[in-house]
Amino acid sequence: MYAVRLFSVRHSRGFERLYNMLESSLVMMAPLLKRIGYQRLEKPVAAVERVVKGFLFDCQMCGQCALSSTGMSCPMNCPKNLRNGPCGGVRENGHCEVKPEMKCVWVQAWAGAAQMKKGTAILDVQKPVDNRLKGHSSWLRVVREKTEPPPPPPGSKPKAPAVKPAAAATTPPASAA
Ligand code: SF4
Repeated sequence: MYAVRLFSVRHSRGFERLYNMLESSLVMMAPLLKRIGYQRLEKPVAAVERVVKGFLFDCQMCGQCALSSTGMSCPMNCPKNLRNGPCGGVRENGHCEVKPEMKCVWVQAWAGAAQMKKGTAILDVQKPVDNRLKGHSSWLRVVREKTEPPPPPPGSKPKAPAVKPAAAATTPPASAA
């Protein structure tokens, strides 16, 4: 809902604190989550995330959340889906050129970031959207990124198991005659 989205940006500092608490709790629960199985958790957690973030931020479930870097203004609400700042069409009143009735999400992002403790994260360059992650839980993805080694790059071969030293190395050398 648009009014709630604007409210969330106005209270970005509070949401930043809430998000940090949620993230720390989920990271602490990582062993339990792993035991239950991330695959098994994906559907229910994504459903909760969709409802909560949909209400607060008009979340589009891109699966790679940038809210903590964008002043709690979801960049996926930009009609051009821009993830690294506004286009050149922002109107003089700060509204969107495509949807004139809507404030530019990046003007909002800048205002929200200014209130946040880690607001300078808005200067970080965001990666292009990976559409394979659409509909998936960002929360679970963040937990896995923080607690598991990164997956090998696509196409890389699995490492061969380490070879034990040859038995001959343990036999004493023959004494010189
Ligand atoms: S950045 Fe992605 S996950 Fe975060 S609120 Fe926007 S659509 Fe949802």
